[in-house]
Amino acid sequence: KSAVALYRARESGQDFLFYSAEMNRRSLARVMLDTELRYALERNEFLLHYQPQYHQQTGRIVGAEALVRWKHPRRGLVPPSEFIPFAEETGLILLIGEWIAQEVIRQVGEWNRQGLSLPRLSLNLSAKQFRPGLVERLQALCEQHGVRTEQLELEVTETLLMHGDAQTTDLIHALSEAGFALALDDFGSGYSNLAYLHRFPFDTLKIDRSFVSGLPGNNSNAALVRAILGIAESLGIEPIAEGVETAEEAHFLLQHGCPRYQGFLFSRPLPLDGFVSLLDAQP
Ligand code: C2E
Ligand code: MG
Ligand code: MG
Ligand code: MG
Repeated sequence: KSAVALYRARESGQDFLFYSAEMNRRSLARVMLDTELRYALERNEFLLHYQPQYHQQTGRIVGAEALVRWKHPRRGLVPPSEFIPFAEETGLILLIGEWIAQEVIRQVGEWNRQGLSLPRLSLNLSAKQFRPGLVERLQALCEQHGVRTEQLELEVTETLLMHGDAQTTDLIHALSEAGFALALDDFGSGYSNLAYLHRFPFDTLKIDRSFVSGLPGNNSNAALVRAILGIAESLGIEPIAEGVETAEEAHFLLQHGCPRYQGFLFSRPLPLDGFVSLLDAQP
């Protein structure tokens, strides 16, 4: 709505005009964000940070998760929460996800040639990316960059599994057969269904930060985490805790059979240089 229409609406008390003006403003913002994200792809404004995964018993980095950021020309570093859900809605996640996969796999290939030892790198896949051709595309990128599929772990969330359609189920099994490791991300944050763990070939179970925080003082979290760890063990799935921020949380996890964690206590997600220095500094 034009300023004139807005003014008239105010004068005559037509609230619905304000409402539609508000809606127009919101859809305008969405169109702008969509345009900006397309530019961002063209201008190569996305980048990856790497958050190490730490093993408390060996004191070593056992992997890392690649996390996307957007280096916006004016807004600075924009976190994924401000554009990934939107990109998932509009479908732009397919293009952004392609960029992420290329960048992650290219990077692992480069580390391979440099002889840098990182056991495994994880990347997040959104549900929208589960379409025919996914497995072949990831395999082709691995071949192109000299990366073994075993060097990559693909993180998915429970929302992908909820609908239980045959295409998704087949793709998950095909990814596993191609050698990619699979992680169930944010376990406990959504519609946690233990049957998923049994039905799909997960290698790793990532316990959501909401369960980890406040351990061991938070009694219900402590009981839930113990139960989850028991199930993971009986199914032969490697657990890792997300969002560990305190020594108490880390200690509880270690005591209960979860020596691996990813969290600010060990390290925040780091830019490439910082992450590589951390890896190099390992004994
Ligand atoms: P996620 O996959 O569960 O990633 C873990 C998030 O937890 C990261 O947030 C990380 O910075 C944060 N985190 C790690 N340790 C701690 C901690 O100790 N305390 C706290 N408070 N937070 C911690 P980030 O990077 O902002 O990413 C948020 C979400 O955005 C991710 O959650 C993931 O769902 C999505 N995302 C990030 N990168 C990608 C990507 O490349 N592709 C897709 N599809 N989604 C992505
Ligand atoms: Mg993740
Ligand atoms: Mg997670
Ligand atoms: Mg999480």
